[in-house]
Amino acid sequence: MKTTLQSLEGSRQNLFIDGQFVAPKNGKYIPSYDPTTGKPWYEFAQGDQDDVEAAVKAANQAFRNPAWRRMTQTDRGRLLRRLSQLIADHADSLAEIETRDNGKLIKEMRAQMAALPDTYDYFAGMADKLQGETIPVNKLDMLNYNTREPLGVVGMITPWNSPLMLLTGTLAPCLAIGNTVVIKPSEHATASTLALAELIVEAGFPAGVVNVVTGTGASAGEALTRHSDIAKYVFTGSTDTGRRIAGNAAQNLVPCSMELGGKSPHVVFADVEIENAVNGIVSGVFAAAGQTCVAGSRCFVEASVYDRFVEALVERTRHIQIGHPMNAETDIGPLALADQLSKVEHYVSSGVSEGATVAVGGKRPWAHEQSGGWYFEPTVMTDASNNMAFMRDEIFGPVVGVMPFRSEEEMITLANDTRYGLASGIWTQNIDRALRFANQVDAGTVWINTYRSSSFMSANGGFKQSGYGRRGGFEVMREFSRLKNIIIDYSGVMQDPFVMRLK
Ligand code: NAD
Repeated sequence: MKTTLQSLEGSRQNLFIDGQFVAPKNGKYIPSYDPTTGKPWYEFAQGDQDDVEAAVKAANQAFRNPAWRRMTQTDRGRLLRRLSQLIADHADSLAEIETRDNGKLIKEMRAQMAALPDTYDYFAGMADKLQGETIPVNKLDMLNYNTREPLGVVGMITPWNSPLMLLTGTLAPCLAIGNTVVIKPSEHATASTLALAELIVEAGFPAGVVNVVTGTGASAGEALTRHSDIAKYVFTGSTDTGRRIAGNAAQNLVPCSMELGGKSPHVVFADVEIENAVNGIVSGVFAAAGQTCVAGSRCFVEASVYDRFVEALVERTRHIQIGHPMNAETDIGPLALADQLSKVEHYVSSGVSEGATVAVGGKRPWAHEQSGGWYFEPTVMTDASNNMAFMRDEIFGPVVGVMPFRSEEEMITLANDTRYGLASGIWTQNIDRALRFANQVDAGTVWINTYRSSSFMSANGGFKQSGYGRRGGFEVMREFSRLKNIIIDYSGVMQDPFVMRLK
């Protein structure tokens, strides 16, 4: 991989189509901004319909090319393992690129990059494990079986918050099965996906198997989701955009997998070690400056410990280190976009006007304003209620609303009072209560005495308006393959041709 932080600085990045880095047909480029300064640091291609057309064509040709279509499962697994090794070799560089592009902490991005090779290895091992089945048929001398085959060209649209990690959970299984892919990364963090494309070439994937069309949602994204030669979309992003994409895809009856936003409940019972639960809440909502889909942004605390808990949470929040994301001591870096900063400010002030109280934080940290970076203090809001806009809408920033509850029943009602259903967490020493919560909460993931722990070996995804479809685990192999039913009559006798053979 030639791309490094240094080589990106001031550079122009092209599209990746049919195994080549190519200029956009319209000749347009747009800047990517450094969130720590608010200044542009490289430019990438503003792909549009013509480029999407070329990428989908290349992906369709690659899908039919025997070099890929007739590659054995073992060989596909081998290619994925080679890619896994290359990612491991360049993990530091990829982490630096993502940190510079989206402002997330270097320590977090290093941990994410270190985990990617394991995910590719896991799905490399799956390449030869996807199997069909034979099925009884109510007739002698007949064989009835199902096979699983790749879908075709999969369109993947990714967000900026963890570009490569979020891509990997679906890219790796897609390739393991033999699909081909057109990726449209976020216009706010494009560089790492293009760097990955270099590694895909180095690993030896045939040209056209993976293509990357950069650009905005309105140009490249819209063109991709309106294309009629796509077999499936995987979208990771906001619920509003997901709704629009599902609408576009429906015009061509193309199925989607939707990984959307959340407003996840995080529950604390009185029987826990307060310090432990406080750290859990902090990690759930302030990690990555709150820019995680699973952020536990609504915190419900048992009334008997509410005051003590809030005091400890406020104190802990005061000690969170805000700083440059490349600094290993930093706990919270900037938000990724200027718009994101305005959005967070808007929700904090709307919360206050609806009656909530800022217990700590609530503004831009003065020490960082001079940098021009998009920093915001970690913020705890009390006197919150589920009716307030900041408790209903996904903020995607470092803001948590805290509320007391008096009974388990009330807590479940409060937790489920949201249109989202992505994740949830509970802190308690009472296993019965924890399991009752796990059974009743409307969320695709439940964490008990932990938060943001995840495994590529399990299927993750949302309920309600947090989406549908899953990433990770064996389940995803079924999602990216299609079932074909094959029936063979070996009786040698063709019966009445005018009667359907139901028996
Ligand atoms: P976003 O919806 O603004 O953009 C996501 C992607 O969609 C980008 O690549 C963007 O260019 C593209 N896009 C925008 N408009 C489009 C259109 N009309 N047609 C096609 N593509 C379009 O989301 P974001 O701000 O990049 O990311 C933050 C959101 O992502 C949050 O809501 C967060 O919860 C969600 N998210 C969800 C998960 C999950 O696994 N559930 C993971 C990470 C982020």
